[in-house]
Amino acid sequence: MNFSNLHRKDFVQHLSSHHFDLLVIGGGITGCGIALDAALRGMKVALIEKNDFASGTSSRSTKLIHGGLRYLKQLEVKLVHDVGSERAVVHRNARHVVIPEKMLLPIVEDGSLGKNSSSLGLLVYDLLAGVKKDERRKMLNKHDTIKAEPLLATDKLVGGGLYFEYRTDDSRLTIEIAKSAFANGATLLNYTESTNFIYDKSQKIVGVKALDKISNKEFEIKATSVVNACGPWVDLLRKEDNSLKGKRLLLTKGVHIVFPYKKLPLQQAAYFDVGDGRMIFAIPRNNITYVGTTDTVYNQSIDAPQCSKEDAEYILKATNKIFPSVNLELKDIVSSWAGLRPLIYEEGKSASEVSRKDEVMISDSGLISIAGGKLTGYRLMASKIVDLVGKRMGKDFGKSRTKTFRLSGGDFSSDIDFQNSLELYLTEGREVDIPTDKITEWFYRYGKNTSYLIGIVKLLKTSEMDRVFDSAELQYSIEHEMVAHPADFLIRRTGKIFFDRINTEKHLQYLNQLLSQQLHIEDTFSQKNLEEVKEEFKAAVSFE
Ligand code: FAD
Repeated sequence: MNFSNLHRKDFVQHLSSHHFDLLVIGGGITGCGIALDAALRGMKVALIEKNDFASGTSSRSTKLIHGGLRYLKQLEVKLVHDVGSERAVVHRNARHVVIPEKMLLPIVEDGSLGKNSSSLGLLVYDLLAGVKKDERRKMLNKHDTIKAEPLLATDKLVGGGLYFEYRTDDSRLTIEIAKSAFANGATLLNYTESTNFIYDKSQKIVGVKALDKISNKEFEIKATSVVNACGPWVDLLRKEDNSLKGKRLLLTKGVHIVFPYKKLPLQQAAYFDVGDGRMIFAIPRNNITYVGTTDTVYNQSIDAPQCSKEDAEYILKATNKIFPSVNLELKDIVSSWAGLRPLIYEEGKSASEVSRKDEVMISDSGLISIAGGKLTGYRLMASKIVDLVGKRMGKDFGKSRTKTFRLSGGDFSSDIDFQNSLELYLTEGREVDIPTDKITEWFYRYGKNTSYLIGIVKLLKTSEMDRVFDSAELQYSIEHEMVAHPADFLIRRTGKIFFDRINTEKHLQYLNQLLSQQLHIEDTFSQKNLEEVKEEFKAAVSFE
């Protein structure tokens, strides 16, 4: 069976008729990471996600695999060491979606970072993360900083530091982890919400009641251990379990706004001081440049955080200050996203001061909840939880195997193998008239699974080449990536809403029609899906 909603009935049947060692609730990077770690150790694992995989915070981050330079200032040395060292591991295991990226830290007069302290800070950052000697930070004088990024304001500039990070696509990384978990025996189902816990006579959790949001039918899933990996929703499940005591979540909102590359044509990704104690990233990526993020305490609906006009104006102001010649306005924004950080509340600390460390909470009923942390540290969090689950079960499942496990699409032995594979797909693509930039785009999205897409193109017959590529990609995502709704494809499998919104909007109707045909969706639901995805496209550029 493929990882496809075409088999949904079989998945529901499997989930309701088996007893699992572990049930994970929440299909963000934390939950999918746990499912993969547990499956690789031979546990019987189930995972349910109430919407789509990565539809929560895991598709709304800054999309960096980073050590968190900022946390060094807060003296979070262990956190920087742990996640910093993890960057190279995450890259090695998924080279197609975790790509090295040089980051420029401009240093300005009267800024919060001096020349010497930045030089030392960046060096400590590299050393803590075990960065190779030739990849360590390079300090630049004013002239070379301007050469690295000519759009920088020069009046107060005194120099800069170039250091090493990685960029990713958060939701693609999550889906590659989910696919890998499935390929190793886990059963993962999206659009399935945990609605109630099931307890035994001694009030221990033995499973959940789950709602299949596509058929609208309820069923039960039984498991020895249940992990709540619901990110910003973690406390709602703890409340449901009557165990919301002691540590609680503090949700903070972070937004990113997207400009066409020609409006903000950065030569170089940058991490800059806003002047109010906050730092912001500006990251060029193909035809766009995105900038963010904010960090404000959030008390509204968890399900649909939005970028407000105030958020957008804050980022615009900071961007225009550091890159003064670009004169960006609200109307230049072509897309945006907003996410919620599920942080652990600390008395007397502001949103940006609260630690990004992860925290595990175990209730009297046995519910294991995990929150906080970073995308970058997902593997370490997963291994910690699965160790704990094994220990509580009193069974030896061995040690985590994820450190050297290559994720779906990422099975490359080295950077050379990575480059050679790209060349191979380019040649294969040329034979069926797939342009170089399309193959390259697919390769950085699907890695070695690009071969499936080329295979689909060979079989598809239509005269409109543009549509052949969209159709092939959609077909792959339906057959191998559990797409059930157009938004799954356009937001979380391909990021088209963020990185190519204007072009994609033109094809919405066609893509929805194709998806409805392939998944046998009735007309009324198909129409509803189309309206919903149109709303998402509108929301990405309406700031209220
Ligand atoms: P989520 O991704 O939110 O997943 C939880 C899932 O649980 C959701 O999909 C939700 O639908 C599901 N769920 C909820 N209730 C139920 C239920 N009852 N039944 C079934 N499912 C349910 N980290 C980095 O390493 N690098 C970065 O650059 C970075 N930038 C960030 C920028 C911002 C603005 C934010 C907000 C965070 C950033 N982070 C970054 C942190 C990182 O994004 C998060 O730590 C991570 O995505 C959290 O993942 P999660 O799986 O815990 O939560």
